[in-house]
Amino acid sequence: MKVLLLSGGRESSYLAATLNSEIDCAIFFDYGQPHINEQFYAANVADKFNVRLVCHVLPALKMSKGKFVVPHRNLLMLTAAAALGASDIWLGANATDYALFADCRRPYLDRAEALLNVKIHTPLIYMKKSEISEKLQTLGVSLADTWSCYFPSVLDGGGLQPCGECAACCSFDD
Ligand SMILES: [Zn+2]
Repeated sequence: MKVLLLSGGRESSYLAATLNSEIDCAIFFDYGQPHINEQFYAANVADKFNVRLVCHVLPALKMSKGKFVVPHRNLLMLTAAAALGASDIWLGANATDYALFADCRRPYLDRAEALLNVKIHTPLIYMKKSEISEKLQTLGVSLADTWSCYFPSVLDGGGLQPCGECAACCSFDD
């Protein structure tokens, strides 16, 4: 089974848009994230590109304001995908996130590949985030159609606004 880990952020949305018929499904994981609204964005982009979306609930991982790093989050999701029967997993990992997120680094993912006996595809790993954003828009996905912020604030009307400060918000400033 060929799957994409789809979070609704720019990288995985770009992969959903470009892989569509190459994968059997996209998987969204609910791990108790404060930004669970990203599920809505994942569902929309999957729908737009005719990708079947499957949602699974994982044990809740602790995320507190100002603390962006959830150790081994990718590994947990990759392991769950492998346990669900995936042989090939696409992940929107990007080298811009190397410093903060160990589990975005290719050597880490190489070891996960060997351990889980799956192929982990990271075609965007060395692409600039600004380039991902541009290409996404040429595919008809506006940046407002994706969600990357970890700690959105709730607006008076009930809507959510990106914080502009977290690692995900700042990573697109290049
Ligand atoms: Zn943010």
